[in-house]
Amino acid sequence: MLPYARQIIDEDDIQSVVEALRSDWLTTGPKVGEFEGALAEVTGASDVISVNSGTAALHAAMHALGIGPGDEVIVPAITFVATANCVLYVGAKPVFADINPTNLLIDVESVRHRITPATRAVIAMDYAGQPCDYRALKTLCDQYEIALVADAAHSLGATCENVPVGSLADITTFSFHAIKAITTAEGGAAVTNNPEYAKRMRIFRNHGITMDWADRERKGQWQYEMDSLGFNYRLSDIQCALGISQLRKLKTQIERRSEIAAHYDASLSGLAGVIPLMRRDDIRHAWHLYVVRILSGKTRTDRDAVYTRMRAKEVGVNVHYTPVYLHPYYKKLLGDFTGHCPMAETVASEILTLPIFPRMNGTDVDRVVDALLESIGNA
Ligand SMILES: *Cc1c(COP(=O)(O)O)cnc(C)c1O
Repeated sequence: MLPYARQIIDEDDIQSVVEALRSDWLTTGPKVGEFEGALAEVTGASDVISVNSGTAALHAAMHALGIGPGDEVIVPAITFVATANCVLYVGAKPVFADINPTNLLIDVESVRHRITPATRAVIAMDYAGQPCDYRALKTLCDQYEIALVADAAHSLGATCENVPVGSLADITTFSFHAIKAITTAEGGAAVTNNPEYAKRMRIFRNHGITMDWADRERKGQWQYEMDSLGFNYRLSDIQCALGISQLRKLKTQIERRSEIAAHYDASLSGLAGVIPLMRRDDIRHAWHLYVVRILSGKTRTDRDAVYTRMRAKEVGVNVHYTPVYLHPYYKKLLGDFTGHCPMAETVASEILTLPIFPRMNGTDVDRVVDALLESIGNA
């Protein structure tokens, strides 16, 4: 099976991890700061807080913004469940906004309609690696004095109007899960230019303790104080060592992903009923996913049939994602919201993720295209 995503672990990654294993530090050591510094350079953010998953980064962001019971946070209907789950972690209510069906990014007008006096934040998600319309989102959030969070699990290395993802929202979160642009196996980070948010997130990832181990060591003190409830969300030195060497390859890997996307674009152009997602002007795409819409009205088939046929041909297609509020847990919790975001519900039955990862070669791409053409009955 050709997978839809696959990590790259080179010899230099292995070397980097081995060095960390042989060093004096396994958990919080020098590699953590080094990795955070390298991420600050890529994202343009002044503060980087590494954590042990993208989900932990989202949780830390909600905590830093002081969101809690009685508050509402607007999230896109189509995203990975973690984007909405983090709102529940702090006892607040996720409110689902519709998406633009041409690019699956959160629809700014839908966000506007969902704002109430209880709204405290919007979490945008850069679907497939394409940054959202942050200019419009920021203007709207400023108007209502609500915070803007970017779930950038798909878009590390992307830019919007030449500004790097990481400097476009009040807090931006990343994931370094195995299938993301760079990996630490599991891992994540929250980045911000707001020192107060940064301080709260640093304390939050370390149990709510205000002085970390290095601080105490420097000051020659054994005392520490916990004055808020935090978690152990720290990322280890071993993982940061992997992250540092992975990050060096980010740029060339995004370039390779762009070439694969261009190859798909050329092969699929003019094909009735198979529509690649639209791209916004003035962005640089990170190409985490390559997604097409299968329009059943314009083909003799539909997405589910194409999915099954392509899988039978050992092409690992996938679907990202079911509208979050249609998951059984959300139905039990919030009630049946079917019909709440019509665009999201329609497009959810059309989207298909084709394989894209840097080590795919041209023959692999052609094999995917051929399997797709046969599966829609065009070959
Ligand atoms: C991967 C992902 C996350 C969660 O990241 P983890 O590191 O797996 O916790 C959150 N949001 C989106 C959109 C993702 O794709």
